[in-house]
Amino acid sequence: MNRQLPPTAPSPAWSQSRTAIVTGGGSGIGLAIARRLAAEGAAVAVLDRDAAAAKAAADGITAAGGHALGLTADVAERASIDDAVAQVRERLGRPTILVTSAGLDGFDRFLTIAPSTWDRILAVNLTGTFHCCQAVVPDMVEQKWGRIVTISSSSAQTGNPLMTHYSAAKAGVVGFTKALALELGPEGITVNTIPPGFVDTPMLRRSETRGFLGKGVGQHESTTPVRRVGLPEDIAAACAYLVREEAGYITGQVIAVNGGRTT
Ligand code: NAP
Repeated sequence: MNRQLPPTAPSPAWSQSRTAIVTGGGSGIGLAIARRLAAEGAAVAVLDRDAAAAKAAADGITAAGGHALGLTADVAERASIDDAVAQVRERLGRPTILVTSAGLDGFDRFLTIAPSTWDRILAVNLTGTFHCCQAVVPDMVEQKWGRIVTISSSSAQTGNPLMTHYSAAKAGVVGFTKALALELGPEGITVNTIPPGFVDTPMLRRSETRGFLGKGVGQHESTTPVRRVGLPEDIAAACAYLVREEAGYITGQVIAVNGGRTT
């Protein structure tokens, strides 16, 4: 059978007709992803619970010649996400790229974790991913094309002391991603996860300031195989590839970007 394959080389205009949503796009990894997708031609909706950060990210992209919209949304609140996605549809067009980078970490001894803390960490990291995917997948199905990249964590692969809640939530994101990929493959939609490890963002620096990184980022750099801390742009580069047309045969995969810290 002579099947029509997608182009093997990325077209410079690969994403020019695409609308992307990046949650947590106001800071760190999400911000770098939003900027990168916009630089490659996508119209990008930056969703963040931090209204000023979402606006600043969108303004920065627009000033650089891109097309962006900043929206305030809490991924843990379904109504908030439904409302934001409706605005994206109306103002940027139907979204077919979704990157879920909004996340909340936590450091607590297991026996001290309050049920409310456990619930919040799962609500943001895991249920938030569910809400965003369920809100956007109908647009992808309608267009018979979609790319979802969830941002999990190396904590899901290795576990981390003081992070049972966070590690459990991120491991849930990995399982969710694999299952959703199997279900959505026939619809032309790929679903992959990037578990970052040790990336220099406000979240990482807050951990350092609070004393949860031992002797700090410098010490961890010296034990990382590539001998440096990761940059948000490292994650954005992998994400930009996964949402391309040519990445259509990659789905249900865990694409670690961590300088070799876990293999
Ligand atoms: P970051 O700099 O703190 O950025 C996360 C963004 O998400 C912030 O703007 C944050 O807003 C927002 N956010 C948090 N809860 C939200 C919610 N309920 N709804 C909407 N937005 C929300 O962190 P990052 O390091 O870039 O982390 C990005 C993702 O990578 C997270 O999922 C994180 O778990 C994961 N990750 C990071 C690393 C790393 O080394 N940096 C390692 C493994 C995994 P606020 O500032 O208001 O909270």
